[in-house]
Amino acid sequence: MGALPPLRILAPTSQAAALAQRIAASDQFEVQIWERPGSLPEEIIRCIEGQIPTLAICALGIVARTIAAVNLPEKASTAPLICATEDGSDFIPVLAGHRGANDLATALARLVGGRALITTVSDQRFDVALDQPPEGWTLKTDAKHFSAFMQALLEAGGADLSQAPLWVQRSNIPHHPGTALKIKALYGRPLNDPQESSSTELLFLSERHLAIGLGCERGCPVSYIEDLIAQAETELGFVFPRPLPAASIDLKADEQAFLELAPQLKVFPAAHLNTFDVPTPSKVVFAEVGTHSVAEASALALAGEGGQLLLPKIKNAKATLAVAISQTPIDTAPHLDIIGLGPGDAQLVSPQAIAALGAADTWVGYSLYLDQAEGFSTAKPRLDFNLGDEEARCRAALDEAAKGQRVALICSGDPQVYAMAQVVYELLARHPENEAWQRTYVETLPGITAMSALAAKVGAPMGHDFCAISLSDLNTPWDVIEKKVKAAAEADFVIGFYNPRSKKRDWQLPRALEVLKAHRPATCPVAFGRNVSRPDEVITLSTLNELNPEDIDMFTCLIIGASFTQRHTSQTGDYIFTPRGYTLDGKQGR
Ligand code: SAH
Repeated sequence: MGALPPLRILAPTSQAAALAQRIAASDQFEVQIWERPGSLPEEIIRCIEGQIPTLAICALGIVARTIAAVNLPEKASTAPLICATEDGSDFIPVLAGHRGANDLATALARLVGGRALITTVSDQRFDVALDQPPEGWTLKTDAKHFSAFMQALLEAGGADLSQAPLWVQRSNIPHHPGTALKIKALYGRPLNDPQESSSTELLFLSERHLAIGLGCERGCPVSYIEDLIAQAETELGFVFPRPLPAASIDLKADEQAFLELAPQLKVFPAAHLNTFDVPTPSKVVFAEVGTHSVAEASALALAGEGGQLLLPKIKNAKATLAVAISQTPIDTAPHLDIIGLGPGDAQLVSPQAIAALGAADTWVGYSLYLDQAEGFSTAKPRLDFNLGDEEARCRAALDEAAKGQRVALICSGDPQVYAMAQVVYELLARHPENEAWQRTYVETLPGITAMSALAAKVGAPMGHDFCAISLSDLNTPWDVIEKKVKAAAEADFVIGFYNPRSKKRDWQLPRALEVLKAHRPATCPVAFGRNVSRPDEVITLSTLNELNPEDIDMFTCLIIGASFTQRHTSQTGDYIFTPRGYTLDGKQGR
């Protein structure tokens, strides 16, 4: 009975005091006895206002009159108040029946050989309190709809229980198949259909977020795990959502039986599993795989912060299973967020990108970008890569996500501009056979690309049609690039050049400028920015003729104006802009 809070017993008469002493002497309840040093109604009010669980051994009428004179606290914060006869024959829960008073009255009655008069209807009629579900369950329907539903249930005398949790099906609520009144388990599905959540004919119960930990011998048949699931479901009184929200040790990432039952199995390394305190640690298991627990620790690891074991390890000849509950929804689906951190300035990173960094289990990317990400979120486990080999980075990110992780693949600028987003999608398209990849939810979180950041610093050169061209001929043959430069020049696009020049690729930019000069005036405005929006930013305005390619390197982005891009010097500085296609001052646009 240690779970019950200290109980205040109000004993205004000597016979009542004798009953109070009997209860106190049992040592089953922590009690405080009040024996009339003042007015009984005033003491009852003090107890109600102080939210103290109270047993008033007096006439129900005294309690009723007293309650009538006070403003009761909100239903949820009302403490149990029980009224009892002096001889202990009857205990009547008066307030907070479903929040402790029914249980307390039942326990007190049992102790002194009396009976509890439970008056809350659902308990009495149906032997179940739907608004006080067992461990692991929560009522999803709000208080207002709940009372309307209960009213309807009492009038109808039953409901359709075909989709109800087992513990409801086993209660005395009669099953009326096919009627409009239904009690349903959500099984992992969110309740976000407004029609469902506002219906007074539907009552929703949700298992608190379940996290199932699995362990087994290599090649274990599915039936062994199914047996354990059935056993756990019987013990807990509800069925698990399918597919199972389950986790195991990383050695088991490809265990067939697990994948059959939990295609989105999440796996953790032994070292992580070994950090959990579990009720049944095993030295044998530690010697084999490097953690003292697989099933229990995996359940806890999956449940995350604040997770609690609901069912310690159960096992049979080949498998183990444990169940935890989590405070937060469990998502074992593989997710890959491809995040752009923008050109450099922390202020230019989108809140969406920052949220995704925080939500991720693992970060993947070039070390420098991962360092940068640490400025926005608590550090996450990282898979660091050098610059180059983008495909390896993307493969690693997809493989990591496939373990049921939420992975952030981190890029600079916009992840879809000469970066990794398209590589990820291309890998997906090329490998339809890789089921784990195909199951992954991939999302691109855009960032501000270098061209846009530079343009904003120099005015509005991208004000009319523009294009971007990467001058890197590492993956694209130069003649293809040159063709694009020529076409863009002829069509009079504003052009952004990315990857313009490196130590090894020094002739491509001068060649591109030569092509451009054939189509644009020598005075055509050009802007270039080195490390735009980073601390060592240098931004320069020039012209097609004056531009010195030696000033350009791989940290630089260039914008070549269209033939009609203009430069203006105001009192605050120099700006370039490309007028729009419509007319200003009555002039025809381009
Ligand atoms: N995804 C990036 C581009 C990667 S390609 C983006 O959207 O910005 C690499 C090229 O981008 C560099 O060679 C350079 O031309 C340009 N670049 C990226 N960040 C830059 C910055 N802060 N300043 C100037 N140029 C930049």
